[in-house]
Amino acid sequence: MRVERIALSGFRNYDEETVTFEPAVNVVCGPNAQGKTNLLEAVYLLTGAHSFRTRFDRELIGFDCDWASILADVESGDRSQTIKLLFRRGQRRQVIVNGAKKTSASLAGLMTAVLFSPDDLYLIKEGAAARRRLMDSAICQLRPGYASLLADYNKLYENKTRILKDWREKPSLLTALDEFSDGLARCSARMIRYRASFAERLAAAAGPIHRDFSGGKEALSLTYRTVSTVTDPRAPAEEIYAQVEAHQAAHRQAELDAGQCLTGIHKDDLDISINGMAARNYASQGQARTAALSIKLAEREIFKAETGEYPVLLLDDVLSELDVTRQEFVLNRIGGGQTLITCCEDEDISRRTGGKVFTVREGRIR
Ligand code: ATP
Ligand code: MG
Repeated sequence: MRVERIALSGFRNYDEETVTFEPAVNVVCGPNAQGKTNLLEAVYLLTGAHSFRTRFDRELIGFDCDWASILADVESGDRSQTIKLLFRRGQRRQVIVNGAKKTSASLAGLMTAVLFSPDDLYLIKEGAAARRRLMDSAICQLRPGYASLLADYNKLYENKTRILKDWREKPSLLTALDEFSDGLARCSARMIRYRASFAERLAAAAGPIHRDFSGGKEALSLTYRTVSTVTDPRAPAEEIYAQVEAHQAAHRQAELDAGQCLTGIHKDDLDISINGMAARNYASQGQARTAALSIKLAEREIFKAETGEYPVLLLDDVLSELDVTRQEFVLNRIGGGQTLITCCEDEDISRRTGGKVFTVREGRIR
């Protein structure tokens, strides 16, 4: 999987710019606020997953522009594909693959990327939302149906939350409550299966990487945690649905009292432990960083196993945050695929990786 060429028009701080990337390592360097992360964001958007920075397409459009476009030639499964994304103010985004209109979800598997940014180094110590984001953004890229399930879930969740907040002032709202709960239970049942299967593969891939990384001293384990009534998250969806529904029924009154949605997969988590101890509570900063790196590198291996090719690896400013040993560990494992690395100074990293250097200044690339 690789991006051969990308042309940006009116995208963030890029007016008109085209770049041709190398198949292996590309080092994107330049001072702060010049457009390095914007370039990585454009590449990431080609995966059909949403931007890693915003939920709002309008933020992607240049301040003085009415629309933005990203046009890319991508090599995927030995085929050359052209992906065009068009963002217009107040309108839905358009996705065009090889000249034909498609949905964002149809990009799943066609173009895959794994992003690694300094925020990911806090994956272990942060709240569960970061770990849910990790699962969601990966599964969205691999399974076309998952992105639309997630969007449906979020819409139902917003509606249910509004009812739970406002029912005291407007009791008539309660007539729709059970319908939204039922919709959430149906989406949950299907999403739980996807997440459980992904978590299992992530655990299998991250364990050996982390063992290697820690010189054989540490065993990393990951366990998916979902709605407590679900006995087997890999069971058929109908079975899980009944168990999620039972949890909802038991919490209906508590939700009305609290004015909040208390049950569902928006509370899922990945329990991460090192040598049997909960990493969130007991891991040192260094251990937590190492575990986060192992998990991210494992994500790359899962994509490879799934699509037959390494995903494009986007390393945004992350190397400067790592000590030399961890930098080496990451750099020794990025072979076999295309990598885009951003940094403020180029020399050291380009020398160590042999990568081609691109310099970004005020939305222009040289
Ligand atoms: P750093 O090294 O600090 O991470 P960077 O080179 O990664 O910097 P970017 O995040 O790519 O910087 O942002 C570059 C500039 O793009 C910023 O100054 C930002 O204000 C600007 N920018 C962001 N969104 C838009 C937009 N929609 N239109 C125009 N400019 C934008
Ligand atoms: Mg940046």
